[in-house]
Amino acid sequence: MIDLRSDTVTRPSQAMLTAMMSAETGDDVWGDDPTVLRLQATAAERAGKEAGLFFPSGTQSNLAALMAHCGRGDEYIVGQLAHTYKYEGGGAAVLGSIQPQPLENAADGSLPLEKIAAAIKPLDDHFARTRLLALENTIGGKVLPAGYVDEAVQLARKHGLATHLDGARVFNAAVASGKPLDALCAPFDSVSICFSKGLGTPVGSVLVGSNALLTSAHRWRKVLGGGMRQSGLLAAACLYALDHNVERLADDHANAAHLAESLAGVDQVKVQGHATNMVFAQFPQQHCAPLEAWLKERGILIQALYASRFVTHLDVSRADIDTFVAAVKQYFASH
Ligand SMILES: *Cc1c(COP(=O)(O)O)cnc(C)c1O
Repeated sequence: MIDLRSDTVTRPSQAMLTAMMSAETGDDVWGDDPTVLRLQATAAERAGKEAGLFFPSGTQSNLAALMAHCGRGDEYIVGQLAHTYKYEGGGAAVLGSIQPQPLENAADGSLPLEKIAAAIKPLDDHFARTRLLALENTIGGKVLPAGYVDEAVQLARKHGLATHLDGARVFNAAVASGKPLDALCAPFDSVSICFSKGLGTPVGSVLVGSNALLTSAHRWRKVLGGGMRQSGLLAAACLYALDHNVERLADDHANAAHLAESLAGVDQVKVQGHATNMVFAQFPQQHCAPLEAWLKERGILIQALYASRFVTHLDVSRADIDTFVAAVKQYFASH
């Protein structure tokens, strides 16, 4: 199967499975799993933070971070398109009693500074207490402009807000921008990093930040049901990915550029853009469902929507992309 629906669909390689099988383990709720401890320390070091905390998912890592930064009746400023607002089931409000203050994202994924400033509420019993600015990098595949991040964080600081980065794909941002991970994480108090996206592990995210913040996130992780036992099996996959699957993200980015260019050569397809490992394109509405089904019969999985997203990853080769584009051409030649 050639699966372009997401970078979460990767399967662990034989080498990754071997690393998992030979992991030393212990009960991590007791702090006894040496492989988890090693992953947390390694991720913290690479991100330039004091500490790291291993989570079963990015959703839970983000939520525990929001709950560590904000209490009941506090609010966080966040983009309408941000994962922590739009794609996490409203968890901050549902489970954290935290009010989101969503703002429209600009086309480059940023939140305009004047909109952030206008959304910060004065201390007044009428208002929720604005406590946190949450950004995302990459967002919709796009790397946030570095100058923008510095200005946004400075603005937040000036108003006494903490800052969180949903860095589910921050390694993609690092590879695409040529900046080290710690430089991208430095402006933020906390960063959540996914290993189950482009890095190709079956499970796992690491939250990095200060010791004090992670002490609170550790408590919330337990409350949210994320305290795991012999999770060194999973942490071993993440350590393997840090050693083997980071630099190769450049291949995914090159493959996405190649996919965008090739799809642009198909008359019926309108390519809207591409960034890092994502391509966005439109098919004629009446062809979406039939095209998706036709490709599936030929071993190619896409989500054909009026505006489709294609994601490259370590289980998609350049030849797979050529196979996919040839199949799309063949479909339109015969329909
Ligand atoms: C996937 C993703 C998450 C959540 O990760 P899960 O492990 O799927 O819960 C958070 N933020 C962004 C930007 C993501 O793409």
